[in-house]
Amino acid sequence: MSKLTEGLTYHYLSAEEPPTREERIEACYAFGGSCSTLKTGMGKGCTKFNSRKFAQGGGCQLTLALGIVRTFQNVVVIIHGPLGCGSNNLGIAGYSKTSRILKQKKASDNIWLHTNLDENDVISGGLEKLREAVLYAEREYRPDAIVIGNSCTPGIIGDDIDGLLDELSGQVAAKIVPVHCEGFKSKFVATGYDSAYHGLLRKLVDPVKRYERTIPDEVADAAEKDIYSKTVNLLNVGSTSYGDEVELSRLLTALGLNVRVMPLYASIDEISRMGEAALNVSICATHDDYLIGHLKERFGTEYIIDTLPIGIKNTNQWLRAIAKFFKLEDEVEKLIAIETAQLKEALEPFKKTLQGKTVFVGGGETRIFTTAEFFQSLGMEVLGLKSHNFDRFAVPLIDDIDDPEAVVAVAPGQPAEELVILNRVRPDLYVGHTGAHTWVTKLGIPTIPLFGQSFNYMGYSGAFELARKAVKKLQNTTFARKISAHVPLPFRPAWYESNPFDNIKEAEA
Ligand code: SF4
Repeated sequence: MSKLTEGLTYHYLSAEEPPTREERIEACYAFGGSCSTLKTGMGKGCTKFNSRKFAQGGGCQLTLALGIVRTFQNVVVIIHGPLGCGSNNLGIAGYSKTSRILKQKKASDNIWLHTNLDENDVISGGLEKLREAVLYAEREYRPDAIVIGNSCTPGIIGDDIDGLLDELSGQVAAKIVPVHCEGFKSKFVATGYDSAYHGLLRKLVDPVKRYERTIPDEVADAAEKDIYSKTVNLLNVGSTSYGDEVELSRLLTALGLNVRVMPLYASIDEISRMGEAALNVSICATHDDYLIGHLKERFGTEYIIDTLPIGIKNTNQWLRAIAKFFKLEDEVEKLIAIETAQLKEALEPFKKTLQGKTVFVGGGETRIFTTAEFFQSLGMEVLGLKSHNFDRFAVPLIDDIDDPEAVVAVAPGQPAEELVILNRVRPDLYVGHTGAHTWVTKLGIPTIPLFGQSFNYMGYSGAFELARKAVKKLQNTTFARKISAHVPLPFRPAWYESNPFDNIKEAEA
């Protein structure tokens, strides 16, 4: 068991839905301070249960859950809720199809249906619409699986979707997978990942089936055992790009490992055989710990849940952890020596532009700390970080930031708070979610995306691309200057003078 998952247990699959992250892991979603005070607060547990006097919109758990399940091959996703809950499917349509083409899968669109609950359904229940949608999905598309994303409304009115789906499972050939992601139950939007994996683990992952051969074949048995002993499941997430997957697979293949990238864009058959691997490798603990904890519990499959392979230090650390499991310590050192020598030489010209510049990074906890560490290694100063939430998995990364007084805000969304901080520290560069760039650019601060499906961020080639992107942005900052000169933000001057952390109520107990 990894040190990071010590004390965590995974035995929730008999329940219809996963526990919230409030119940399951020590986590924080409201904090304002510095690296050092965050570390102290997490150590004492006093960051837990903080809240806000006023909160702007956070994220939707259904969106995160759908980001996983809609990628599976030959599935129909049914969103059980009011029409607006399915709106995020529109924006992602082209991207999903492109990803399938890149991965040499069938170039199909996402197929999603909607129960379109209205006021009458809120009174009388929406199960009949769901029944109709499931039967329509089966009849019209013949999918391998039908995944039902249960939104807030049926959660509030108490639709017994599991009862209905159990009844329907005898009438349709597709596997039916309920995914409970009623956002009002948890303030941690990442609970949506647990919801998706809860459904996947309960309904799609089969126990490993091994059959005796009719005609004994010792050579074939040995070959199969050999492949299995070197197979790793590289667990991809919505923010990994195809370029990231190619780079990380390249590095693991160079160590002689057999790499299966999943579960995103996998077929239902591939997912059902997830247990057939020697090791599950996480790219991001925020996404994966629930999944790999249960795979360990069910199949005994060991796992690596360490850091996110962004930048040189963290890519090295990630590779070493995997190599240690397979007793490939000498091989990995040779690989790291070759890769880092080439990369450091390639990065040298970028340092002239980046040296002495300041950066602020906002987004998911592991990604922001590893990205900040990488820019720091190129001579930049990290002024601050803003994390959607923060838990035990990211605590070891705090020490990688040189300045213990660098600002840290823990806030899902909450742009009004973040903009006060940014206006005060005024970094040369902001790295964050693309949605944040609209506001940050209006402050006149140049931005680059923290992740993007068209770019490579991870591994050694990703480090090069990330540095190149930052240099390109810093060499010409006209866009942000012109936008800020002509497009104002909606705050009064007094807002920028206020303390953004006054809004945070510390937990009393
Ligand atoms: S109502 Fe709930 S499920 Fe629907 S979009 Fe809002 S948070 Fe998401």
